Order: sequence, then C-alpha cells, then structure tokens
Amino acid sequence: MARRRPIAAANWKMNLLRRDAEDYCRHIASDLGEPAAEVLIFPPATLLQTVAEGLTGTGVGVGGQDLHTAAEGAHTGDLSGVQLADVGCTWALCGHSERRKDHGESDSLVGRKALAANEHGLVPLICLGESDEERRAGRTFEVLERQLKAALETTPAAFELAYEPVWAIGTGATATPEIAQEAHAFLRQQLAKEVGKQRAQATRILYGGSVKPENAAELIAPEDIDGFLVGGASLDSTKFLAIIMACGASARV
Ligand code: PEP
Repeated sequence: MARRRPIAAANWKMNLLRRDAEDYCRHIASDLGEPAAEVLIFPPATLLQTVAEGLTGTGVGVGGQDLHTAAEGAHTGDLSGVQLADVGCTWALCGHSERRKDHGESDSLVGRKALAANEHGLVPLICLGESDEERRAGRTFEVLERQLKAALETTPAAFELAYEPVWAIGTGATATPEIAQEAHAFLRQQLAKEVGKQRAQATRILYGGSVKPENAAELIAPEDIDGFLVGGASLDSTKFLAIIMACGASARV
C-alpha cells in the first residue's frame, strides 16, 4: 500500500517576532522546492498574516494554534475559526497538551473545537498523548482511547492526528521509534472503530516530542508514523527544512 503523504508541521508556540518570521519565510520560500511532504506552520496569532503572506505560492499551509468554539462574540483574548480563515489559515491545532494544561481544556472541549474548525473550513490537527505519570502507571492506551473517543464525539468531517507524549515535549526525551509506532498503531486501530477502516488508513498520525534533524529519519521509518509536529527545532528554518526533507524521503520508499 502506498504510504500516506507525510506532514511536517512547525508549532512556533509563543515565540518569534515579525522580523524573525519574515526572514524565516524568505528562507523557506527560496529553499523548499517541491517537497514530497505536506508542510504546515502554526505561528502565534500575531504572526499569522506575516506567515500567510510570506509563504504565498509555496504550498505551505498555515494554521492557528487554537480556536474558540464560537464564530464571534464576547470572548476576550480568543480567536475564532472565521478569523483564522480570514487571515489565510486552513488548519488549526486542537488539544495541544499545553492548552490542556495551561488552560484546563477538557477532552470534550477538544472535540467541540475540532468541529468548529471544520465549520469554518479548517482542518483540525488533533493532539493527544499521555503524561509521564500515566505511562509509568501503564495507562497509556487507556488515556489515548479516552482522548480520541472524546475528540471524535462531535464527528468532525476532516481531521488529522498528532500523537504527542507529554513527557517528550520540549524535554529532549524523544520516544523511541518502537514506542511511537506502538502508540500510532494503537491509535489507528481505535480510529478504525470510530470512523471505519478505510478512513483510519487514510488519516495521517504525526509524532511530536523533541523531533530534530538528527532523529527525524529514524522516527519517520515505522509504517504508522506519518510525519511530525515539531516545536523547538521548528524555530530554526534550517533545522525545519532538514526535518521536511527527512519526512519527504519517507514518502518515496
Ligand atoms: C510540540 O509542542 O508540539 C512539540 C512537539 O514540541 P517539541 O518539538 O519542542 O518537543
């Protein structure tokens, strides 16, 4: 079976300023070429327009790091799917562990956000993953099953997934390819129960957690790993380009 087209996604979190983003986009636009991998960038809200404009014509997708479930209204500090689409976004992160932790986002809210994304023409990249404590307690699969079920409760029509074990995010403690593959295969199996086998086979499941150019090639090798959601290393355009190329190389094997 042909491999799913891999995705290399950059999550800039609360980093970078306008000048940095302009330089970054210039570098990507000049060196990207026609990558085998689909490329996405999730900048902070202040840089969405800069990145969308700076990458026009490159094929790189831009997404918001979060969205509110409502289209508009009295929600200070939030952004809606309509507003994200208005600045050129086609994607939105939903349920990143930092949102779950810093903002108390529940499993069911993540599902409602995924649906809201769809309603405004955005593809939600739904993030899930267990904490260190949950893994040590042997509860990884139970947590993944619960998070996935809740995220799909609202039956979003289009979505992709990112498995991000919390213990590997920003810690330098990357999952081994074996650990990541085991979780991805489990998620695809659960996905088949929720949305059917065919759709489960077509869904891209990205791995996230301390991915860098040095470990990208071995992490992309297992059959159920369809790309990466990259935090720290994605802030450097040279490193992100190397990760994009490692993802793309897997598409040709
Ligand atoms: C992330 O925040 O989605 C992430 C994977 O971060 P890092 O690559 O820095 O671990």
